Amino acid sequence: MKICLCGMLVVALLVSACGQRQLEPDEAIECDRCDSWNEPQDPFRVHGNTWYVGTKGLSSILIETAEGLILIDGGLPQSAVLIDANVRDLGFDPYEVKAILVSHAHYDHVGGIAALQRLTGANVYANQAAIQTLTAGALNEDDPQYVADSDQGSFPPVRQVVVVDNGGVVTVGSIDIQAVYTPGHTPGSTTWTWQSCALNTCYDIVYADSLTAVSAQGFKFTSSGVGDEIAASAGKVADLDCDILLTPHPFFFGMDEKLERAGQGNPFINNVGCLMYAESSLQWLEQRLQAE
Ligand SMILES: [Zn+2]
Repeated sequence: MKICLCGMLVVALLVSACGQRQLEPDEAIECDRCDSWNEPQDPFRVHGNTWYVGTKGLSSILIETAEGLILIDGGLPQSAVLIDANVRDLGFDPYEVKAILVSHAHYDHVGGIAALQRLTGANVYANQAAIQTLTAGALNEDDPQYVADSDQGSFPPVRQVVVVDNGGVVTVGSIDIQAVYTPGHTPGSTTWTWQSCALNTCYDIVYADSLTAVSAQGFKFTSSGVGDEIAASAGKVADLDCDILLTPHPFFFGMDEKLERAGQGNPFINNVGCLMYAESSLQWLEQRLQAE
């Protein structure tokens, strides 16, 4: 009887300890746009299994499966608490996150991943070319935004990173998420695509990585060949089966404008979204190449 009571006490203590497990954020990163990017955003359903749990300016996507959750991107270090709260607000348990996927290894999309990984225990999945940057928490010299002898762009390093090859798949439950390498904005840029089915209708969702030609001073998209890479990656995104476009910065998929139209059908469904995104990226690139 005594042993039994003792066992119950241990269980009770464990439950209360687990209930108190909380996200321990890393130190915030300061930047010109960080505060506006990190403004809180109410989470919402994009379609079926797919939810937006990011901030006003930095996307984080949650995918629900029968055997756990998948998270894509983690914003800034200071975004992690907001993402965690959004996941809970939707009624999901953050400890059910089984995989964290990376679009590209810049501080504004992976800064919160180390803390989210500590909270969830999930493996992080990324492009081969992003592994060194992710595990060092510092930009590699092949990144267009790399600045020599500077910690500019650094972020909390990420552990337990699993390589996903181009065309490779991360599977949780019955959901397969495919990696499509779209290098250019960074060498390890990755677009992720999966299906969301609801009410007997399935849609292809594309989380298309940034295709913007942005760099540190002195970098040339012409002579480096990275301009050609961005153009090829834009072509890949344009060719994907794509009913719903999502992007690491929600501005590029028109989040605010689409949320205003919520209630009139699903405003996120648009089968030319990827094509338009690729075209505007090419226009941006063209301007940059001409300026060089
Ligand atoms: Zn970036």
